[in-house]
Amino acid sequence: MTEDNYLKCANCEDIYTHVENVVWYRRSEDEAVCDTAFLSLGNNQDMQMQTNGKFNPSRRRDGLRVIFSCEACGGYSSLNISQHKGSSEVEVVKCPEDFLETKQFFNVNQGGDY
Ligand SMILES: [Zn+2]
Repeated sequence: MTEDNYLKCANCEDIYTHVENVVWYRRSEDEAVCDTAFLSLGNNQDMQMQTNGKFNPSRRRDGLRVIFSCEACGGYSSLNISQHKGSSEVEVVKCPEDFLETKQFFNVNQGGDY
């Protein structure tokens, strides 16, 4: 983040970013199955499914990803909020490459690595 509260691209630190998707994960503590909801902004491709929670930023509980694209480099960043014990952690990281590969499956109603 900048002093003016602009989110910086995790790849190149440019501030010209756009919100693309929101992915919300709900998991009871240490459950193998994770309720996952995708909100694809602008194309009405929202969906909800059960997944293995591979990309849930919280390893054990609830989490949220807000995916941003960057005008400058074309890369993707992920604003992560994760439940960790009694606290909520926030970070901005490069979007994992294998997560981006799942984008082609966002329209398919199936579980798996999300
Ligand atoms: Zn960038």
